[in-house]
Amino acid sequence: MLRNSIRIARIGGISINIHVSWILIFILVTWTLAASYFPQNYPHWSPPLSWSMGVITSILFFVSVLLHELAHSFVARARGLPVHDITLFIFGGVSQLEEEPQTAATEFIMALVGPLTSIVLGVCFGAMWLTASGVNEPLAALGMYLGGINVWLGLFNLIPGFPLDGGRVLRSILWQATGNLQRATRWASLVGQAVAYLFILAGIWRIFTGDWVGGLWIAFIGWFLDNAASSSYRQLTVRNLLAGHKVREAMSRDCMEVSPDLTLESIVNEHVLPTGTRCFPVVEGGVVRGLLTLHNIKGVSQDRWASTTVRQVMTPADGLKKVGPEEELWAAMQNMTEDGVNQLPVMDDGHLLGMLGRDNIVSFIRVRGELGI
Ligand SMILES: [Zn+2]
Repeated sequence: MLRNSIRIARIGGISINIHVSWILIFILVTWTLAASYFPQNYPHWSPPLSWSMGVITSILFFVSVLLHELAHSFVARARGLPVHDITLFIFGGVSQLEEEPQTAATEFIMALVGPLTSIVLGVCFGAMWLTASGVNEPLAALGMYLGGINVWLGLFNLIPGFPLDGGRVLRSILWQATGNLQRATRWASLVGQAVAYLFILAGIWRIFTGDWVGGLWIAFIGWFLDNAASSSYRQLTVRNLLAGHKVREAMSRDCMEVSPDLTLESIVNEHVLPTGTRCFPVVEGGVVRGLLTLHNIKGVSQDRWASTTVRQVMTPADGLKKVGPEEELWAAMQNMTEDGVNQLPVMDDGHLLGMLGRDNIVSFIRVRGELGI
């Protein structure tokens, strides 16, 4: 589960979360519809009708995005890839895949099914619009709006820039053609960035020709796409570098065990300053009671270091996230990111073997890069 998201449901074993940014979008869409779109197009509607239609349309828009993501997830699962969460956030959603698809064909179908779902939904809402026209105006309005937005959602996601669905389709085709996933990802990301720059240029052009709001939106989407393309490429590169490596290969073993009754002053003067050690497992009677890091020490003002003991500020063992020595390095790094921590104690059978920090992973990658392995 991504940080800052709330679980709202479980469908077929997949937990459905919404990111806090989505709540903002939900309010914005409802408000735009109720205060501007419906009153402009249907001036004879009463405000309560406009507002209730605004809420209903927003909810159905939300359901449409969810169906798009569920389509990705169900195909992934049918192809043997576990999916546990879907998180909906600004601009759509992400299905959290535990692993990358194993074959180009799987990726192709998995990526394509989302936009197809949106387009089919768009056609259904379009049919509702045509059927209800002249019979039931609110129903026709709903069909017209959601038909249009679903078709747009489908087409937007088909833009061939990684990591959009269309970029994944492109990547799977390049992957099939070259047999090289890394190179296919590189090319698909470059196309993604090229598309992003076109959006930014188009946005700037519209700003200069007088359409401020529209231009800013287009440029913003371009900026978002550019970020997504470069960060997902970087992420995949790191992932490839770490693939197959275990936590024990990168962890540091030179943590210094300390007693819980020492003062912070003695820790700083005797260990931190002379040796640069940054983390201290707190051990009492052979048992790990907790962990002391520079972060804990910094939380206490310097004039109280002499009177504060390790026990008072350490993170207690039961509140501690840990990792096993045989776990995948990549998975451990993702756990750190999700929990927002910089290091994890490496524990085996209740014994502390060492610490895994982000800096350990960075130097693990750097050393291998320098040696060219
Ligand atoms: Zn999609």
